[in-house]
Amino acid sequence: MLESYLENTILEGVTCPGCSLLCNDLVVKISNGEVEVVKGACSHGYQAIKTYSMDSRLRGFTIGLKSVDPEEAIRKSAEILSSSSKPLIYGFDECSNKAIELGLKIAEKINGVFDTPPSICQPSIPLIASEGIEIGILEDVLDNADMIVFWAANPAETNLRHASRYSVMPRGSSVPLGRENRIVAVVDVRNSWTMKIAQHQIKIDLGGDIELIESLDRIYDGKPLKTSKYMGAVLPLINDVKRARYIAFFIGHGLILNGNVNDTLLSIVNILRKIGASRKITLTPIAERINSMGASKIPYKLYKYSHALKFSNRSVEYNPISTSAYGGLLREEFDAALLVKTDPTTHLPLSASRKIPFNKTIVLDYRETIASSRSLVRIPLSILGVEANGEVIRSDGVSTELRKIIDGGENTIHEEEFLRKLLEYL
Ligand code: SF4
Repeated sequence: MLESYLENTILEGVTCPGCSLLCNDLVVKISNGEVEVVKGACSHGYQAIKTYSMDSRLRGFTIGLKSVDPEEAIRKSAEILSSSSKPLIYGFDECSNKAIELGLKIAEKINGVFDTPPSICQPSIPLIASEGIEIGILEDVLDNADMIVFWAANPAETNLRHASRYSVMPRGSSVPLGRENRIVAVVDVRNSWTMKIAQHQIKIDLGGDIELIESLDRIYDGKPLKTSKYMGAVLPLINDVKRARYIAFFIGHGLILNGNVNDTLLSIVNILRKIGASRKITLTPIAERINSMGASKIPYKLYKYSHALKFSNRSVEYNPISTSAYGGLLREEFDAALLVKTDPTTHLPLSASRKIPFNKTIVLDYRETIASSRSLVRIPLSILGVEANGEVIRSDGVSTELRKIIDGGENTIHEEEFLRKLLEYL
């Protein structure tokens, strides 16, 4: 609903661009073209919306030190990419779905590698699809789930309203007392903030997931448990699992840090399938960035791989060791790069990120980063969900429209427009 009076505008039901939860109940007051009040957002959401006014916005289209107009920047970008023999197309986890599709088409057209920053969605999407496990739609979790498990996930620090808006606190039709009707279990390698709201607080060793899952499996089957350091935690947890009608199981980024994510995920899926034979059970990743889910789901839908796609003459190859951005960078394979809303220097090891060919790199971003400061071509973007519209995919796979709330982004370009034009030039 839009209510306008004089120069003030109050926007209701605004979708927050702050994280992959995409809360759609914000109220934003605009005064004189500026965001004056944001109601309903957590601190991350508030910061995401106010980002438009920060000093560190990427400003101006530049090639080297020279300011250029958008057309010249697009032409130069096309020239760099089309003359490259091994280009890297990387990022996209904060982009719209359309931009992700365009990035894939660009990679296909120039025989490049398309990859996205590490995310729990990358191994989860193919496994959930192949094993036929259901993803938990958040509104359904809110209404019906009476047991919530967070495994290697810490939404209290990453998706701040997860527990209060959807998974733990709210009252739902099958859980009329809200928190009092729900059992919460948290498994993590440290005492996380999320653990503080859980009845079952299970701290495991780094890489101890499979031992815990095996122990749970034996107890669930009524078999004796061999010596296990998790003995004390497993029995009461399985007792509650057996009483639950609907278990919503959430997995987080922590799982990809132990280096054994595929085996761990498969073990989780196997025990969930067993438990799910007599009750409803869902498995949902907590996507790290606003569209980490889209950045995995769209490549999977179009090419059957969720990341690390290497295109060659209209065919696609997938082998994370040889076709990932990380592997290719380590081997110094890339002679040009297109980085879209990402700074690999913050999440890839230095041994890889220092091999980015910055003198042939194009950066699209709305903020200054280490990568943007070192790249040849710099393209300033409007901010999705603040200055620009675009569709993204929520953590639970639901497509969601982000709408601009202010005009602005002067001398910026919409990511989809830039990528569409770039594709035309290639
Ligand atoms: S939890 Fe995420 S989507 Fe919701 S208000 Fe906070 S940042 Fe925005």
